Formats: sequence, structure tokens, C-alpha cells
Amino acid sequence: MHKKKHVRYIFITGGVISGLGKGIVTSSIGKMLQFRGFKVTACKIDPYINYDAGTLRPTEHGEVWVTEDGGEIDQDLGHYERFLDINIPKSHNITTGQVFYEVIKREREGKYLGQTVQPIPHVTDEIKRRIRKIAEESKADFVLIEIGGTVGDYENVLFLEAARQMKLENEDVLYIHVAYLPIPKSLGEMKTKAVQHSVRELGRFGIQPDFIVGRAEKPLDDVRKKKIALFCNVDEEDVISDPEVDNIYKLPLIFEEERFGDKILSKFGLQPIKPRNEEWKRFIERVESLSETVKIGIVGKYFDIGKFKLPDAYISVIEAVKHASWHNNRKPIIKWIDSKIFEKDRERLSMLDGIDGIIVPGGFGKTGIEGKIMAIQYARERGIPFLGLCLGLQLAVVEFARNVCGLKNAHSTEFDPNTPHPVIDLLPEQKEILKRSRYGATMRLGGQTVKIKPGTLAYNLYGRTEVIERFRHRYEINPRYVEILESKGFVFSGMTPDNRIMQIGEIPEHPFFIGSQFHPEFTSRVLKPNPLFDGFIRASIRRRAEMESAS
Ligand code: GLN
Repeated sequence: MHKKKHVRYIFITGGVISGLGKGIVTSSIGKMLQFRGFKVTACKIDPYINYDAGTLRPTEHGEVWVTEDGGEIDQDLGHYERFLDINIPKSHNITTGQVFYEVIKREREGKYLGQTVQPIPHVTDEIKRRIRKIAEESKADFVLIEIGGTVGDYENVLFLEAARQMKLENEDVLYIHVAYLPIPKSLGEMKTKAVQHSVRELGRFGIQPDFIVGRAEKPLDDVRKKKIALFCNVDEEDVISDPEVDNIYKLPLIFEEERFGDKILSKFGLQPIKPRNEEWKRFIERVESLSETVKIGIVGKYFDIGKFKLPDAYISVIEAVKHASWHNNRKPIIKWIDSKIFEKDRERLSMLDGIDGIIVPGGFGKTGIEGKIMAIQYARERGIPFLGLCLGLQLAVVEFARNVCGLKNAHSTEFDPNTPHPVIDLLPEQKEILKRSRYGATMRLGGQTVKIKPGTLAYNLYGRTEVIERFRHRYEINPRYVEILESKGFVFSGMTPDNRIMQIGEIPEHPFFIGSQFHPEFTSRVLKPNPLFDGFIRASIRRRAEMESAS
């Protein structure tokens, strides 16, 4: 029998408030370990009862991330992939729903016959089984497990309990608690009390953190570190500062200044290792030195939650724009444009003149659709670089059908079921599923092969005839309209390997106009921008230069 690989587990919990950027902390810890030559993977525990994030409202939860193997997951998995440059499968997202579903299923199958099935040990056993399976399948040296929510929440208690038991069972385990330190304006001083309470709460579950990461607007000073150390029962050295940064990718280097990487190794009984982070450092230095900009407009649908807006719904698009801009030595300036304003006042379209490139991102639902179509027409007619992502491509087809092919009232049946020209329609297989009206898991999801036509812009950008990109949609370009669209100058440059479904569309006459049925933002990595975004940014920079020399 072969010897099982020794694996080390790091649990990351959160305290005081949610939305602390635990995902970024987790990713940064992983990066520091990668810099030391270790194989790392990460997983996210979401304590909600939904089986996955597919049916969650984006306004509440931020974007839905799509994994290569077709999972619809919390956006933190996206951060892990972007930082660590690895594909993370859907099994690395554990929800309460999955765990209970499995336990109840087993109970019905008689697998626990004669036993009283209980939260402890049956539910906690199932949680640990999933975590160990991740370790085994990934063959990682380190498995990072981010426990969602905040310590003290009702819903993550069983996950904390499982985390506690893992150490008891002699696994090599470390606990890192990320907690918030407010600096109330009226006091002007950073306060530690809330952190103390959250560590005490963690203690109630039998977990003593090995490190406390203090998240605050500013770095923690010695006074705060001492205080936290004393009250939270850790070494002063093990209180790590996690200040606000203008660029999240800097965090692994900021942690390194506190020797966090080597301190983690030391807790596991390992010797310090010099991190090989030269390339990352050079990249950060280059980004910091950039002075020239590129202005990208994202024409989307914006939701307000009370008085707050939620840009998180497009987080992967934002990151992909950043990666591609930095790659081309530009600082991106992102303009959020609510498409509804064009519907109210067509004159407002002229604001797009001041923008170097326009993205119409993915989306669902009728709101703002006509405004997006107006923006696409404007970009097409004025030669403004355009990138359409999923819904963005679909609407580009609608716009072209209406205004170039003369197909009056052409539309997607998602928005107008009675359109005389359904240029965008349901995939036949989705029609079947929807007939049974099961909304969960009814989409075409995950990585699929796209065949690229040589001699096109898409081919020019990808440089190959086959790529794998990630999808999340129900509608497609109606094959019946491909011929007429192409006869008027729209080119389908990417399709399924059987040539049946069109996946990329472009207009060769335009300086840069391309849209994809997939979401290229999901495969963009910090140091490896996605080719479509890369090309789009280059075209936007060219336009900027042309506009400047013309004026
Ligand atoms: N609503 C469209 C569809 O289902 C587009 C989806 C998307 O943009 N991800 O096909």
C-alpha cells in the first residue's frame, strides 16, 4: 500500500463583521505557501441551506462564480483561482444544504440503521469526510478551509465543531481568525474589544486561534497587538496586521513583511523557506508605477440595497479588466453606467464618447435591456471597442438583427416571447428542463470546448483553434438566423465542436467588436489575462490614442 501524503489543514474563520475580505486573506496565505514551493488548494464553507449558489440573488450574495466542472459557487472561489492560478472544482464548496442532504439521504437508505442520527457525530463526520476528500483528491500539501459567516452565527456552529474535531483526531491543523477592528470617528482610535469578544466566542467552541489577523483601515500598532495578544491568549508575534490596500494582490507581500509565511511554517514544525515571489513583486511594482489610464465603461444593471450599491455582482469582470489593463501598462478607470438612463434620455448616449471601450456584461431579467441595446448600437456605429459577455453577445445579435438586417422587433425570447424574429432562443435541451419548471440547475454550465475559426479576430486573439471557456446560460443564438446575420457582415468565429451552436460573434469591419456566449472573465488570472479582455484593452488604448491625436 502506498503511504498517504501528509497534509496540513488551515482553517480561516471570521469575526465581528462579515465582508472582511477573508477570501483575499485565504488566497494570500495560499500564495505565500506557493511561493515556498508547496502545493496548495483552498475550499469555502458556506453555511446557507441552498445546495449551491445557483439560485441565490446576486444583490444579496455578489456574483455567482462558475467552476470549470460546472459548479455555481460563491465568488471566493474566484479569488482563490485568480490568486493561486489553479482550477478549483465545485467539490471545494461545502454548504449546509449539501451536508444535510447527504446525511438525510444516507439515513433513508438505511446506512445508519439502528442509530439515532445526530448533528454530532453524523453531520460533523460528513463535513470532515468532505474536507479530507478534498485533501486526498487535490494531493495538496496545504488545504485552506475558509469558514463563511462570522463566529457567533447560529449557522456555522457545526462547521466550527468539525474544525475542532480535526485537531483532536491528530490532524495537522492551524486556526487563523480574521477579525475587524473599528476606528470610530468620534474616538479616532482603533478599538480591540470586538476582536476580544469574537475570540472568546471562538473559544466557546473549543478553538484557540493560532493567529489573529486584525482587519482594519490602518495597520495595527504595537499597542493594539499587545492588547490583543494578552486578551486573546496568543503571542504578540502572532497578531498579524491586515490593513486596507488599494490593490488586493499586494496582500501576500504585506503579510510577508510580518513574516507571516514563515510563522505559519514554524507552527507546523517546518523550517523557514525563502519565498520565491520576485515575479509577483515586480508585477506589483510595475502596477504601482503606472500613470497612464484606460477608461472602460461597464453598461450593466445596477441594484441598490437600501442606500448602498453592490458592485460585487460583477467582481470577476472587474478583476479581468484590471488584469488585462495592467498587462498592457495601464491603470483601468471603470465607469459604471446604468443602462436605464439611456432609455429615459437618448441624448445621454453621448457620454460614451468619452470612454475608450464598452463592456456589456452577463445578466438576467428584462430591466435595462433596451438601454443596453442602445449602447451597443452606439458602440457599433461609432467604432468604440466593444466586448459582450454572454447576454452582451446576445444583445449585440439582437441589435444587429434589428438595425442592420432590418428584422423589425427582433429579440430574445427571454424578454419578448412573442417576437416575430426570435434571434436568441432557448437551447432545445433547456426547453425540456424548463417545461418541468425546475429552476435550480437548469443552465448550461461550466467549461466547454469552443472551436475557433481561423482568420478571425477570435483566432487572432486566442492563437488557437480550440479553447475551453466557462458558460452559464439558458439561451443561445437561434441557428435559423445565422445565415442572414452573416450575409450582412456579422461573423461567427467560435462554435461548438459540432458546429451547431454559435459561441463567439464579431464584426470584422469594426475596429474591435466581439462578444462571447461564455464568460471569459472566469478564466482571467492575475498574471495571465484572458485573451478577449487583453485584445479589448489593447483596442481601447488604441482608440484613446486616436482620439487624443485627433483633438
Ligand atoms: N440570460 C441569458 C441566458 O440565460 C444570459 C445569461 C448570462 O449572461 N449569463 O442565456
